[in-house]
Amino acid sequence: MALSKEQIQTLVGLIATSQTDELSCDECFGQIGEYAEKALDGRELSEGMQLIQRHLEQCPCCSEEYKALLDALHEIEV
Ligand SMILES: [Zn+2]
Repeated sequence: MALSKEQIQTLVGLIATSQTDELSCDECFGQIGEYAEKALDGRELSEGMQLIQRHLEQCPCCSEEYKALLDALHEIEV
């Protein structure tokens, strides 16, 4: 399904506005370990951790990193 011009503009606008108050990848990497531990424990996420969560949803490279980290954490626990 092709996107209409309006849809593309909306998406671009969303990306542009979401990036302004979003974390950078560096900030995300800095807290990704803490986030992974909390997520694994099923603990409630603080506001800062929710920002990480949102970044991971939007950023393929950080979500890859997060998956690798989860794998590593699982190996440690086993
Ligand atoms: Zn990122």
